[in-house]
Parts: sequence; C-alpha cells; structure tokens
Amino acid sequence: MLKQIETIQNADLSKFSTLKIGGKAKHIFFPKNKEEVCILIKESIDKGKEIHPIGIGSNTIFSDGILDKFFISTKNLKKINITKKNKDVLIEAEAGVSFKEIINIVKKYNLEGFENLSGIPASIGGAVAMNAGAFGSEIFDILEEVEWIDSEGNIHTSLKDEISFSYRKTQFQKEGFVYKAKLKLKKSDKDIPKIIKEHLLERNKKQPLNLPTTGSTYKNPEGNYAGYLLEQAGLKGYKINDIGFSEKHANFLVNYGNGQFKDLMRLLEYAEETIENIYKIKLEREIKIVK
Ligand SMILES: Cc1cc2nc3c(=O)[nH]c(=O)nc-3n(C[C@H](O)[C@H](O)[C@H](O)COP(=O)(O)OP(=O)(O)OC[C@H]3O[C@@H](n4cnc5c(N)ncnc54)[C@H](O)[C@@H]3O)c2cc1C
Repeated sequence: MLKQIETIQNADLSKFSTLKIGGKAKHIFFPKNKEEVCILIKESIDKGKEIHPIGIGSNTIFSDGILDKFFISTKNLKKINITKKNKDVLIEAEAGVSFKEIINIVKKYNLEGFENLSGIPASIGGAVAMNAGAFGSEIFDILEEVEWIDSEGNIHTSLKDEISFSYRKTQFQKEGFVYKAKLKLKKSDKDIPKIIKEHLLERNKKQPLNLPTTGSTYKNPEGNYAGYLLEQAGLKGYKINDIGFSEKHANFLVNYGNGQFKDLMRLLEYAEETIENIYKIKLEREIKIVK
C-alpha cells in the first residue's frame, strides 16, 4: 500500500524550506487523502521512524546530512469546502491549502477576520500547528475545529477549546498530524480587499521578501520585541558567511546565497548568548530546526 503513495527518495530538503538550506531526506511522502496519511503513520510505527509533517516550510530549517524520518508533505491535501450560514462563512480546508488560497476566498466573499493574517506564507496545517498570527490576531481566533491524526493513526475531531494552544505554540508541535481545519469568518461591510492590500504593502516595506527567509527567528519575550532586542544589541545585518539577520528586520534570518547550516547554528548561538548577557533574557526560537 505504501508503494501507491507518491514518494521522492533522496529528496533535496533545501527545496522544502523557504530559507533554502538543508541536506537530504531518505523519503518524502505526498499523501493525497486522509487514508494515505493514516497508512503512513501506521507504517512509521512499524518501522520505528518519527513522522515529520511539512507544509510550505516557511518556519522550518533542515540540518545537513541525510535525515531518516517519515517526512509527510501536505502538498497534495488541497480540498476546500465552503458553507454559508446567515452572515457566517465556514471554510473547511485540508492541511495543504495555502493562505494565498484562503485570501482568494476571503476577497471573493468580502469576509472579515482574516485580514491580519494575510501575507503570512503558510499552509493551513503549518499555521494551525504554529498558531500563526500577526498584528494582534492569530489563527486560533477564527478556528472552529481541527481534524487530526494522532501518532497511532487514530483520527480525532477537536473543537478549538479542546486543543491546547498559546502564543505560537500548540499541542500539534509535540504530536499529531493536522489533516483539516474549519475556519469561521463573517461577511463584512468593510472593503476587505483594500485592507488586505494595505497589509501586504506594510509587510513588503518591513520584511526582506526579496531573499530566502524563515520569518521571525525568535518569539517576542513578554513585554518586549525580539527584533528590537537584536537591533539594540547590534545584530541587525550581522552575518556569518552567507547567513545573517536581515538589514531590514533584525528578527528575520536571511540566506544571501550559499547559506550553510553550521553558520546558522553559530549565528543563533551567538545571538542567544549576546541577548542573555546584555538583557538577561533567554530568547525562545520560533523557527523549527529539524535534525
Ligand atoms: C516572509 C515570512 C513572513 C512570516 N510572517 C509570519 C507572521 O507574520 N506570523 C507568523 O506567525 N509566522 C510568520 N512566518 C512564519 C511561518 O510563515 C508560519 O509559522 C507558518 O504558519 C508556517 O507554515 P508552513 O506551512 O510553512 O509550516 P512549516 O514551516 O512547513 O512547518 C512549521 C511547523 O509546523 C509543523 N506542521 C506543518 N504542517 C503540519 C501538519 N499538517 N500537521 C502538524 N504539524 C504540521 C511542521 O512539522 C513544523 O514543526 C513568516 C515566514 C516568512 C518566511
């Protein structure tokens, strides 16, 4: 049965991370439905391998070398179902649906609730797992329920209140494959496409979108901003060979061309040590490093 599932062997992991660095994966699987995800999870148990879901890879950095995990890409999980209930619109989206696709729906029906999230380069699965957010909003604000598969291959449907989540953190970072999410948005009287356009322009001004990046490297410590601390410590634009903190946004890691994993790790360790020495604050990584 495993043989029927689309697979790439010896896959170049740099193509699955927006920072464009990383070694090779023995296998990456591309299931096209829930049943295939369950087969993969059960197979991973039989083979004693850890599963690792991959969305757009905009928050993920892979190490060098050969990684022998059960990498499951959500690229082929793209179904969307839209239902309308009075002023509310429910969007059920499989894990591989991108925020760009959600924005198209939001603009088409002029829906309110997603504006602040527009511009985050996320898949639904990655966004739910990370509780992605921006400008004071997060995906859990508009989330109704999640269909997910546990590490034994059992399927669950959990309402938002049954899921453990906080700032950029959810239970799915420890366990489980997000298969589908239901979002609730409502019809708006405002000009939503205009508001979204303004958000995208704002991001363009502040973020280094012309270089490979993984967005915010560190979570904001309580009452402070990681970018501000890095900038005050002189790390804005600081780089080790081809990996550095952007000159445009100190909390964004960028790859200037030939970025290497070992330089990235040195850079992170240096930044964390510097911030701890100056401010006595331990920065917590938002990016996910996969070794
Ligand atoms: C230019 C840029 C701007 C960004 N701006 C923001 C921002 O404003 N706010 C913000 O929150 N983030 C931001 N990010 C980071 C990133 O876009 C988000 O964290 C996003 O939610 C990651 O989605 P993804 O599909 O790329 O996840 P990936 O990077 O592929 O995965 C992230 C984590 O989620 C897990 N995961 C992925 N899919 C699933 C699944 N189906 N089930 C279970 N776990 C899964 C992965 O295993 C990994 O641990 C930005 C990144 C970039 C490059």
